[in-house]
Amino acid sequence: MKTRVHSPTPVALRRLAAALRRGELVAIPTETVYGLAANALDARACRRIFTAKRRPANDPLIVHVTDLRAAEQLAKFNDVARALARAFWPGPLTLVLPKRACVPAIVTSGQNTVAVRAPAHPLARKILQLARVPLAAPSANPFGYVSPTTAAHVLDGLGGRIPHVLDGGACAVGVESTIVDMSDPARLVVLRPGAISAGDLHGALARARLGARIGKKAREQTLAPGLLDQHYSPHTPFTLVARAPRETTDADTGVIFWERPRSLAAAPSVFALTRSGDADDAARSLYAVLRAADAAGFARLVCEKAPARAGALGEAINDRLRRAAGKRRGAH
Ligand code: AMP
Ligand code: MG
Repeated sequence: MKTRVHSPTPVALRRLAAALRRGELVAIPTETVYGLAANALDARACRRIFTAKRRPANDPLIVHVTDLRAAEQLAKFNDVARALARAFWPGPLTLVLPKRACVPAIVTSGQNTVAVRAPAHPLARKILQLARVPLAAPSANPFGYVSPTTAAHVLDGLGGRIPHVLDGGACAVGVESTIVDMSDPARLVVLRPGAISAGDLHGALARARLGARIGKKAREQTLAPGLLDQHYSPHTPFTLVARAPRETTDADTGVIFWERPRSLAAAPSVFALTRSGDADDAARSLYAVLRAADAAGFARLVCEKAPARAGALGEAINDRLRRAAGKRRGAH
Protein backbone atom coordinates (compact mmCIF):
# COMPACT_ATOMS: atom_id res chain seq x y z
CA MET A 1 0.00 0.00 0.00
CA LYS A 2 1.30 3.45 -0.85
CA THR A 3 0.87 6.05 1.90
CA ARG A 4 -0.10 9.50 0.64
CA VAL A 5 0.85 12.57 2.66
CA HIS A 6 -1.70 15.37 2.25
CA SER A 7 -1.22 19.06 2.86
CA PRO A 8 -4.24 20.56 4.63
CA THR A 9 -5.94 22.17 1.63
CA PRO A 10 -9.75 22.46 1.65
CA VAL A 11 -9.95 19.85 -1.15
CA ALA A 12 -7.70 17.41 0.72
CA LEU A 13 -9.68 17.82 3.96
CA ARG A 14 -12.94 17.02 2.13
CA ARG A 15 -11.36 13.96 0.47
CA LEU A 16 -9.94 12.68 3.75
CA ALA A 17 -13.27 13.14 5.53
CA ALA A 18 -14.94 11.15 2.73
CA ALA A 19 -12.26 8.43 3.05
CA LEU A 20 -12.99 8.19 6.80
CA ARG A 21 -16.71 7.86 6.08
CA ARG A 22 -15.89 5.00 3.66
CA GLY A 23 -14.03 3.17 6.46
CA GLU A 24 -10.45 4.06 5.50
CA LEU A 25 -7.75 5.00 8.00
CA VAL A 26 -6.32 8.55 8.08
CA ALA A 27 -3.48 9.68 10.38
CA ILE A 28 -4.37 13.15 11.65
CA PRO A 29 -2.62 15.76 13.77
CA THR A 30 -4.04 16.54 17.22
CA GLU A 31 -2.58 18.93 19.78
CA THR A 32 -1.19 15.97 21.78
CA VAL A 33 0.27 13.50 19.22
CA TYR A 34 -0.74 12.28 15.73
CA GLY A 35 -3.72 9.92 15.86
CA LEU A 36 -4.59 7.03 13.53
CA ALA A 37 -8.27 7.76 12.92
CA ALA A 38 -11.18 5.57 11.81
CA ASN A 39 -14.96 5.98 11.94
CA ALA A 40 -15.66 4.93 15.55
CA LEU A 41 -19.14 3.62 14.65
CA ASP A 42 -17.74 1.25 11.99
CA ALA A 43 -16.30 -1.88 13.64
CA ARG A 44 -14.55 -3.00 10.42
CA ALA A 45 -12.81 0.36 10.06
CA CYS A 46 -11.71 0.21 13.72
CA ARG A 47 -10.34 -3.31 13.24
CA ARG A 48 -7.98 -1.86 10.60
CA ILE A 49 -6.43 0.36 13.31
CA PHE A 50 -5.45 -2.69 15.36
CA THR A 51 -4.00 -4.41 12.26
CA ALA A 52 -2.00 -1.39 11.06
CA LYS A 53 -0.57 -0.70 14.54
CA ARG A 54 -0.21 -4.39 15.48
CA ARG A 55 -2.07 -3.35 18.61
CA PRO A 56 -3.50 -6.09 20.86
CA ALA A 57 -7.30 -6.20 20.89
CA ASN A 58 -7.41 -5.69 24.68
CA ASP A 59 -6.08 -2.10 24.38
CA PRO A 60 -9.17 0.14 23.95
CA LEU A 61 -9.28 3.23 21.70
CA ILE A 62 -10.03 6.86 22.58
CA VAL A 63 -12.97 8.27 20.59
CA HIS A 64 -12.59 11.85 19.35
CA VAL A 65 -15.60 14.14 18.96
CA THR A 66 -16.31 17.79 18.14
CA ASP A 67 -17.94 18.69 21.45
CA LEU A 68 -19.86 17.63 24.56
CA ARG A 69 -23.09 17.16 22.60
CA ALA A 70 -21.44 14.66 20.27
CA ALA A 71 -19.79 12.92 23.25
CA GLU A 72 -23.17 12.47 24.96
CA GLN A 73 -24.28 10.35 21.98
CA LEU A 74 -21.53 7.85 22.85
CA ALA A 75 -21.20 7.98 26.64
CA LYS A 76 -23.47 8.44 29.67
CA PHE A 77 -22.30 11.67 31.30
CA ASN A 78 -22.76 12.69 34.93
CA ASP A 79 -22.63 16.32 36.20
CA VAL A 80 -18.98 16.07 37.21
CA ALA A 81 -17.99 14.82 33.74
CA ARG A 82 -20.04 17.57 32.10
CA ALA A 83 -18.33 20.23 34.21
CA LEU A 84 -14.89 18.91 33.23
CA ALA A 85 -15.81 18.74 29.54
CA ARG A 86 -17.09 22.32 29.70
CA ALA A 87 -13.91 23.47 31.42
CA PHE A 88 -11.28 21.67 29.32
CA TRP A 89 -12.78 20.83 25.89
CA PRO A 90 -11.60 21.20 23.29
CA GLY A 91 -8.33 20.12 24.89
CA PRO A 92 -6.07 17.29 26.12
CA LEU A 93 -8.49 15.65 28.60
CA THR A 94 -9.98 12.19 28.01
CA LEU A 95 -12.99 11.08 30.08
CA VAL A 96 -13.78 7.39 30.65
CA LEU A 97 -17.54 6.92 31.11
CA PRO A 98 -20.21 4.21 30.75
CA LYS A 99 -20.74 3.61 27.04
CA ARG A 100 -23.90 3.69 24.97
CA ALA A 101 -24.97 0.77 22.76
CA CYS A 102 -23.90 2.45 19.50
CA VAL A 103 -20.19 2.15 20.39
CA PRO A 104 -18.82 -1.08 18.88
CA ALA A 105 -17.21 -3.54 21.32
CA ILE A 106 -13.90 -3.45 19.41
CA VAL A 107 -13.47 0.24 20.36
CA THR A 108 -13.73 -0.45 24.09
CA SER A 109 -12.11 -3.91 24.08
CA GLY A 110 -15.44 -5.27 25.23
CA GLN A 111 -15.58 -3.06 28.34
CA ASN A 112 -18.77 -1.23 29.30
CA THR A 113 -16.91 2.11 29.42
CA VAL A 114 -15.70 4.32 26.58
CA ALA A 115 -12.93 6.96 26.53
CA VAL A 116 -13.96 10.26 24.84
CA ARG A 117 -12.20 13.53 24.10
CA ALA A 118 -12.72 16.67 21.99
CA PRO A 119 -9.32 17.62 20.48
CA ALA A 120 -8.33 21.28 20.12
CA HIS A 121 -6.18 21.04 16.99
CA PRO A 122 -7.92 23.06 14.26
CA LEU A 123 -7.30 20.37 11.60
CA ALA A 124 -8.59 17.56 13.85
CA ARG A 125 -11.69 19.67 14.51
CA LYS A 126 -12.14 20.40 10.79
CA ILE A 127 -11.87 16.70 9.86
CA LEU A 128 -14.38 15.78 12.61
CA GLN A 129 -16.83 18.40 11.35
CA LEU A 130 -16.50 17.30 7.72
CA ALA A 131 -16.63 13.54 8.48
CA ARG A 132 -19.71 13.97 10.70
CA VAL A 133 -18.82 10.79 12.60
CA PRO A 134 -16.85 10.28 15.84
CA LEU A 135 -13.26 9.16 15.20
CA ALA A 136 -11.50 6.42 17.15
CA ALA A 137 -7.83 7.39 17.14
CA PRO A 138 -4.93 5.93 19.10
CA SER A 139 -1.42 7.27 18.52
CA ALA A 140 -0.32 6.75 14.89
CA ASN A 141 2.68 4.50 15.58
CA PRO A 142 3.38 0.76 15.78
CA PHE A 143 2.20 -0.56 19.17
CA GLY A 144 4.72 -0.01 21.95
CA TYR A 145 7.05 2.38 20.08
CA VAL A 146 7.56 6.09 20.72
CA SER A 147 4.47 8.20 19.81
CA PRO A 148 4.56 10.44 16.69
CA THR A 149 4.47 14.23 16.84
CA THR A 150 5.10 14.95 13.14
CA ALA A 151 3.83 13.51 9.83
CA ALA A 152 7.37 12.22 9.17
CA HIS A 153 7.23 10.21 12.44
CA VAL A 154 3.96 8.64 11.25
CA LEU A 155 5.53 7.69 7.91
CA ASP A 156 8.57 6.19 9.69
CA GLY A 157 6.38 3.76 11.61
CA LEU A 158 3.30 3.20 9.47
CA GLY A 159 4.42 4.13 5.92
CA GLY A 160 3.13 1.41 3.55
CA ARG A 161 0.60 0.20 6.17
CA ILE A 162 -1.96 3.05 5.99
CA PRO A 163 -3.38 4.98 2.99
CA HIS A 164 -3.34 8.59 4.25
CA VAL A 165 -1.47 11.02 6.51
CA LEU A 166 -2.66 14.59 6.97
CA ASP A 167 0.39 16.81 7.57
CA GLY A 168 -0.40 19.48 10.15
CA GLY A 169 3.17 20.17 11.28
CA ALA A 170 4.48 19.46 14.78
CA CYS A 171 2.04 18.86 17.68
CA ALA A 172 1.76 21.74 20.17
CA VAL A 173 1.45 19.74 23.43
CA GLY A 174 3.56 16.70 22.52
CA VAL A 175 2.42 14.21 25.19
CA GLU A 176 -0.81 12.22 25.22
CA SER A 177 -3.98 13.45 26.94
CA THR A 178 -4.71 13.17 30.66
CA ILE A 179 -7.11 10.19 31.03
CA VAL A 180 -9.61 10.30 33.91
CA ASP A 181 -11.86 7.41 34.87
CA MET A 182 -15.22 9.03 35.71
CA SER A 183 -17.29 5.88 36.32
CA ASP A 184 -17.67 6.95 39.96
CA PRO A 185 -18.29 10.74 39.88
CA ALA A 186 -17.45 11.03 43.59
CA ARG A 187 -14.05 9.42 43.12
CA LEU A 188 -12.15 10.21 39.92
CA VAL A 189 -9.05 8.23 38.99
CA VAL A 190 -6.28 9.69 36.83
CA LEU A 191 -5.33 6.70 34.65
CA ARG A 192 -2.66 8.57 32.67
CA PRO A 193 -1.08 11.95 33.59
CA GLY A 194 -0.97 14.64 30.91
CA ALA A 195 -0.93 18.41 30.49
CA ILE A 196 -4.07 18.80 32.65
CA SER A 197 -3.23 18.08 36.31
CA ALA A 198 -5.35 16.84 39.23
CA GLY A 199 -5.09 20.42 40.58
CA ASP A 200 -6.57 21.76 37.33
CA LEU A 201 -9.46 19.27 37.66
CA HIS A 202 -10.08 20.26 41.30
CA GLY A 203 -10.07 23.95 40.33
CA ALA A 204 -12.60 23.47 37.55
CA LEU A 205 -14.91 21.44 39.79
CA ALA A 206 -14.71 24.05 42.56
CA ARG A 207 -15.67 26.78 40.06
CA ALA A 208 -18.67 24.66 39.02
CA ARG A 209 -19.53 24.22 42.75
CA LEU A 210 -18.90 20.50 42.50
CA GLY A 211 -16.47 18.29 44.33
CA ALA A 212 -14.89 14.89 43.91
CA ARG A 213 -11.96 12.98 45.30
CA ILE A 214 -9.26 12.63 42.68
CA GLY A 215 -6.84 9.73 43.05
CA LYS A 216 -4.14 8.09 41.00
CA LYS A 217 -4.42 4.64 39.53
CA ALA A 218 -3.19 1.95 41.91
CA ARG A 219 -0.16 0.24 40.38
CA GLU A 220 -1.74 -3.19 40.20
CA GLN A 221 -4.90 -1.80 38.63
CA THR A 222 -3.72 -2.33 35.04
CA LEU A 223 -6.66 -1.75 32.73
CA ALA A 224 -5.00 -1.86 29.35
CA PRO A 225 -1.59 -2.30 27.72
CA GLY A 226 -1.49 1.48 27.19
CA LEU A 227 -0.96 1.58 30.94
CA LEU A 228 1.55 -1.27 31.07
CA ASP A 229 5.02 -0.84 32.51
CA GLN A 230 6.64 -1.01 29.10
CA HIS A 231 5.36 1.29 26.36
CA TYR A 232 6.51 4.32 24.35
CA SER A 233 9.90 2.56 24.08
CA PRO A 234 12.92 3.22 21.85
CA HIS A 235 14.58 0.10 20.38
CA THR A 236 17.91 1.04 22.01
CA PRO A 237 18.26 -0.13 25.65
CA PHE A 238 17.02 2.83 27.67
CA THR A 239 17.74 3.76 31.30
CA LEU A 240 16.14 6.54 33.34
CA VAL A 241 18.30 8.25 35.97
CA ALA A 242 17.80 11.07 38.49
CA ARG A 243 21.07 12.72 37.44
CA ALA A 244 23.46 11.93 34.58
CA PRO A 245 27.19 12.73 34.81
CA ARG A 246 28.17 16.25 33.72
CA GLU A 247 31.55 15.08 32.31
CA THR A 248 31.95 13.79 28.74
CA THR A 249 30.25 10.42 28.28
CA ASP A 250 31.54 7.51 26.23
CA ALA A 251 30.75 7.53 22.50
CA ASP A 252 28.51 4.43 22.75
CA THR A 253 26.09 6.04 25.21
CA GLY A 254 23.61 8.70 24.15
CA VAL A 255 22.62 10.91 27.08
CA ILE A 256 19.36 12.87 27.14
CA PHE A 257 19.31 15.81 29.54
CA TRP A 258 16.44 18.12 30.44
CA GLU A 259 18.72 21.06 29.52
CA ARG A 260 22.17 20.65 27.98
CA PRO A 261 24.82 21.22 30.69
CA ARG A 262 27.35 23.93 29.79
CA SER A 263 30.19 21.50 30.50
CA LEU A 264 28.91 19.30 27.62
CA ALA A 265 28.17 22.12 25.17
CA ALA A 266 29.96 20.45 22.25
CA ALA A 267 29.51 16.73 23.10
CA PRO A 268 27.95 14.93 20.09
CA SER A 269 26.37 12.15 22.16
CA VAL A 270 24.30 14.60 24.22
CA PHE A 271 20.64 15.52 23.64
CA ALA A 272 18.42 18.00 25.47
CA LEU A 273 14.64 18.22 25.80
CA THR A 274 14.55 21.99 26.17
CA ARG A 275 16.71 25.06 25.54
CA SER A 276 14.56 27.42 27.60
CA GLY A 277 14.13 25.12 30.60
CA ASP A 278 10.40 25.27 29.95
CA ALA A 279 8.22 22.18 30.56
CA ASP A 280 5.98 23.07 27.57
CA ASP A 281 9.01 23.10 25.34
CA ALA A 282 10.33 19.80 26.76
CA ALA A 283 6.97 18.04 26.26
CA ARG A 284 6.81 19.28 22.66
CA SER A 285 10.24 17.89 21.81
CA LEU A 286 10.16 14.73 23.98
CA TYR A 287 9.23 12.17 21.29
CA ALA A 288 11.28 13.82 18.52
CA VAL A 289 14.37 13.69 20.78
CA LEU A 290 13.70 10.05 21.79
CA ARG A 291 13.36 9.12 18.11
CA ALA A 292 16.52 11.02 17.07
CA ALA A 293 18.52 9.46 19.91
CA ASP A 294 17.15 6.00 19.02
CA ALA A 295 18.09 6.42 15.34
CA ALA A 296 21.65 7.60 16.09
CA GLY A 297 23.00 4.08 16.62
CA PHE A 298 24.10 4.22 20.27
CA ALA A 299 24.56 0.97 22.22
CA ARG A 300 22.49 2.43 25.04
CA LEU A 301 20.58 5.56 25.99
CA VAL A 302 20.52 7.23 29.40
CA CYS A 303 17.91 9.87 30.16
CA GLU A 304 17.52 12.28 33.05
CA LYS A 305 14.13 12.64 34.71
CA ALA A 306 12.22 15.92 34.46
CA PRO A 307 12.87 18.16 37.49
CA ALA A 308 10.11 18.66 40.11
CA ARG A 309 9.70 22.31 39.05
CA ALA A 310 8.37 21.04 35.65
CA GLY A 311 4.95 20.49 37.35
CA ALA A 312 2.15 18.48 35.74
CA LEU A 313 3.89 18.24 32.38
CA GLY A 314 7.06 17.07 34.10
CA GLU A 315 5.01 14.34 35.78
CA ALA A 316 3.51 13.34 32.40
CA ILE A 317 6.98 13.30 30.82
CA ASN A 318 8.37 11.15 33.66
CA ASP A 319 5.43 8.75 33.32
CA ARG A 320 6.32 8.23 29.61
CA LEU A 321 10.07 8.00 30.37
CA ARG A 322 9.45 5.39 33.09
CA ARG A 323 7.46 3.32 30.60
CA ALA A 324 10.13 3.82 27.92
CA ALA A 325 12.61 2.34 30.40
CA GLY A 326 10.13 -0.28 31.65
CA LYS A 327 10.69 -4.00 31.73
CA ARG A 328 10.69 -5.47 28.24
CA ARG A 329 7.69 -7.72 27.95
CA GLY A 330 4.71 -8.31 25.70
CA ALA A 331 4.42 -6.98 22.16
CA HIS A 332 6.93 -4.33 21.18
P1 AMP B 1 -3.75 5.93 23.05
O1 AMP B 1 -3.03 4.71 22.60
O2 AMP B 1 -2.84 7.07 23.38
O3 AMP B 1 -4.87 6.32 22.19
O4 AMP B 1 -4.40 5.63 24.45
C1 AMP B 1 -5.48 4.79 24.60
C2 AMP B 1 -5.49 4.45 26.04
O5 AMP B 1 -6.66 4.97 26.64
C3 AMP B 1 -5.54 2.97 26.28
O6 AMP B 1 -4.28 2.38 26.22
C4 AMP B 1 -6.14 2.91 27.68
O7 AMP B 1 -5.09 3.06 28.62
C5 AMP B 1 -7.04 4.15 27.74
N1 AMP B 1 -8.45 3.79 27.58
C6 AMP B 1 -9.18 3.84 26.46
N2 AMP B 1 -10.43 3.41 26.68
C7 AMP B 1 -10.50 3.09 27.98
C8 AMP B 1 -11.51 2.57 28.83
N3 AMP B 1 -12.74 2.29 28.38
N4 AMP B 1 -11.20 2.35 30.12
C9 AMP B 1 -9.97 2.62 30.58
N5 AMP B 1 -8.97 3.10 29.84
C10 AMP B 1 -9.22 3.33 28.56
MG1 MG C 1 -0.38 4.93 21.99
